[in-house]
Amino acid sequence: MRDEEPEEETAEERRRRWIEREVAKAESKTVRCSKCGKEVEEFADRAGRILCMDCYMEEETAEGGGMPEIGGGAG
Ligand SMILES: [Zn+2]
Repeated sequence: MRDEEPEEETAEERRRRWIEREVAKAESKTVRCSKCGKEVEEFADRAGRILCMDCYMEEETAEGGGMPEIGGGAG
């Protein structure tokens, strides 16, 4: 995949992008996995439980489910 970026970026656009990045950074706080207790930034919600990716995959595999559907953001 190739991102198409404008050749020129106004100061305002740059500033807005910077703010968005800062906001995203502030929102990405770590959570503790309810199974192994590991603190992770990426987690999956499974039946109301917070699971790290490792535990999530483990449970999915144990149940013989298919690929987990993990919501990824754009970018
Ligand atoms: Zn875990």
